Amino acid sequence: MTQISTKPASTPATTVAATAAPAAPRTWTELKPARKASIPEGLWLRCPSMMIYRRHLEANLHVCPECQHHYRISASERVKQLADEGSFVAMFEGLSPMDPLKFKDLKAYKDRLLAEQIKTGAVDAIKAGRCFIKGREAMIVCLDLTFMMGSMGSVVGETITRAIEDATKTKTPVVVVSCSGGARMQESGLSLMQMAKTSAAIARHDDAGGLFISVLTDPTTGGVTASFAMLGDIIMAEPNALICFAGPRVIQQTIRQELPEGFQRSEFLKKSGFVDKVVPRSGLRSEIARVIDYAGG
Ligand SMILES: [Zn+2]
Repeated sequence: MTQISTKPASTPATTVAATAAPAAPRTWTELKPARKASIPEGLWLRCPSMMIYRRHLEANLHVCPECQHHYRISASERVKQLADEGSFVAMFEGLSPMDPLKFKDLKAYKDRLLAEQIKTGAVDAIKAGRCFIKGREAMIVCLDLTFMMGSMGSVVGETITRAIEDATKTKTPVVVVSCSGGARMQESGLSLMQMAKTSAAIARHDDAGGLFISVLTDPTTGGVTASFAMLGDIIMAEPNALICFAGPRVIQQTIRQELPEGFQRSEFLKKSGFVDKVVPRSGLRSEIARVIDYAGG
């Protein structure tokens, strides 16, 4: 009552006073936790150097407008960003992962798979299909970090291989956007075989005069780097993406030397000749279209 006593008794505030007045004995069930000032969850994001409004980030292709930090995005978002609107037709969707080794670490592989499938709504860590990029027809393949860190198991390898083989047959340029933690250890040797299989498909595509554009995004590592991702006729990378086989920490521990600044990042790899061009996300569509035109794709 004391808090609102400054207001005249005739104002509508009296209704508030009524609720503040002592009422029936309190019970545990009526006690609710105090409501915090309501900011909808995830409205703001912390980018490495500042807070950023999520809508601004989304409107800017998930790149911070201030510091240009390129956020990691899902395969669906990647397809949406690269393909002309409404042009993407998904292919090779009938493949689903198996567990022939009955692998179990902290969790059984088949339980882990199921949990990831429920979480992401995808069958495995890849999305492939035909689309147009600025009017140029292309076979597009995107790895998906949100599913088991984009790791390459049998389904990922087989999808890439089928996509490339289809593109070879139809003389279509292939664009693969990589982001991966590497081979999927739960599939052991079967996962490693995908490195050879995808590389062989690319070699045949190349022999037939096909174009393969590899786009490396943060992070592209392990068996993916060691196979198809580095076999592009043209290799593009998003700014500051980690691109490596073994990560910097492992290397530092092995060679016991201080690593140079920016080691294993896009710009560093461009300097050492592993990457042809560092392309900001906003320029990817134009750059891919330009390369397709240049190659007579
Ligand atoms: Zn920022």
